[in-house]
Amino acid sequence: MPTRNVPVRLSLGSEQPTQATVVIADWTMLERLRRGAMVLGLAWGAAGFSIVIPVLHFVLPPILLLLGPILCVWRVLTRSSFKEGTGPCPRCKPERTMTMGGKVEPETNVFCDGCGNQLTLKLQS
Ligand SMILES: [Zn+2]
Repeated sequence: MPTRNVPVRLSLGSEQPTQATVVIADWTMLERLRRGAMVLGLAWGAAGFSIVIPVLHFVLPPILLLLGPILCVWRVLTRSSFKEGTGPCPRCKPERTMTMGGKVEPETNVFCDGCGNQLTLKLQS
């Protein structure tokens, strides 16, 4: 899994924006297929397990059987994803490491562990 550090700008309302960096993981095709197969296995395994739960066995198995392939395709199509961000929060200032996840977007939201505010993270190209 090759990773790269990308500069970003953290902003929060009227506070002075700060510079930070995020680590982005670029998934290889094999890793993407492995991640897709893992989520498919989990969804279908949970569907198989939920058959023995009374009442819920009418709802959960069909939902999980449909959700598995959808999540699998989503994971296979995700070429890169955020791993973590490091930088000073615009409000509480100290350098923080924020765990992140999800597909790489030009703009996303992260939460500061110190003050709990939702920060806007913008990639700088
Ligand atoms: Zn903060």
